[in-house]
Amino acid sequence: MQNINSYAFYGKRALIRVDFNVPLNKETLEITDDTRIRAAVCSIKHILEKGGSVIIMSHLGRPKQGFEKRFSLKNIVSRTSELLGVDVQFAGDCISDEAIDMSSNLQPGQVMILENVRFYKGEMAGTEEFARQLSQHGDAFVNDAFGTAHRAHASTTIVAKYFPNDKMFGFLIENEIKSVDKVLQSKEKPVTAIVGGAKVSSKIVIIERLLDTVDNLIVGGGMAYTFVKATGGKVGDSLVEDDYLDVARNIIDQAKAKNVNLYIPTDTIIADRFSNEAQFKEVAIDKIPEGWMGLDVGHQSILECAEIIENSKVILWNGPMGVFEMSNFENGTKEVAYSIVNATKKGAFSLIGGGDSVAAINKFNLADKVSFVSTGGGAMLEFLEGKELPGIKAIKEN
Ligand code: AMP
Repeated sequence: MQNINSYAFYGKRALIRVDFNVPLNKETLEITDDTRIRAAVCSIKHILEKGGSVIIMSHLGRPKQGFEKRFSLKNIVSRTSELLGVDVQFAGDCISDEAIDMSSNLQPGQVMILENVRFYKGEMAGTEEFARQLSQHGDAFVNDAFGTAHRAHASTTIVAKYFPNDKMFGFLIENEIKSVDKVLQSKEKPVTAIVGGAKVSSKIVIIERLLDTVDNLIVGGGMAYTFVKATGGKVGDSLVEDDYLDVARNIIDQAKAKNVNLYIPTDTIIADRFSNEAQFKEVAIDKIPEGWMGLDVGHQSILECAEIIENSKVILWNGPMGVFEMSNFENGTKEVAYSIVNATKKGAFSLIGGGDSVAAINKFNLADKVSFVSTGGGAMLEFLEGKELPGIKAIKEN
């Protein structure tokens, strides 16, 4: 495996897989959020500065079969040119003779974008033939698409085998990997994980893994009520997974045995229906009346969480504390975000990893006040679960 920092790109064509799956306005097809493009600029500029040329490949959306204008990467060419300060060329497809000619004629400092790789069946099927055809575009392969690293697609994984001595991670993936390592292999203590979200079932693997590495584990969101019910509390109509009550009890026992401080909220904001217009009030989390459901953590819990978080050296946050999409039930999630920001100011390392906590930190405009916000929702979840991501393995293996 090579390293993007030390690799000699001079005179070479670097085929780079990025995640330019950006949201577009449905009518005008203009980019509404270019975060993902900006995230890859660092690697691309580095290659250009080292005297290489760059061939960009990515997917965009979920095209059903073949070309669809709304999923064409042509829509993102001008913004990419602006961000790179280079006149980016566009190949109308991925593997035609014309496209291959274009990339072989690319001069140092030049950049081209291939068409959406998902216009080809071979991409998601991960066929060797499509990967081989793509590989003709480059002398080296750089994978900088963390968001698709958990997929064994042609352009994310299979293509790497055609570059046995010239494959590497881009800066973005490198940083994602380093951030998770910082949390899971931290020598600094205490390490605190905050795991929220809807269900225990979708976070159980992560929770069990974290019990081996963290000092504090804060459980929030909808899954807290399964824990409360598992210990005999009354949770009314809150979200509960009855077939996970034993699992929850087992986690409580494991936490004790492993000396992990497992924090379950003590109070909650309950509502008489799942709506921002519902009536709501604050009660002890184990005394929720029938007909009411817990949609956020209460004030006491917020204070207790802040105490834990603000005394931590390393923090991982995955999943909201409540239904933060509704303004009446966003407070717990918001306050946890502020506690993480405060801890970060005091020198803690904070990683926001996984879909909805990333959405939450963005909603509260705090993304630049934490140490690292992951770009990969599903990929980050699987990475935290300890799974070997195919896109990462393909670069690492010989
Ligand atoms: P996840 O994708 O598992 O991280 O779940 C995120 C979702 O959990 C968000 O859409 C939240 O609205 C939802 N959520 C958080 N707390 C609750 C709750 N107390 N009851 C129902 N849903 C919740």
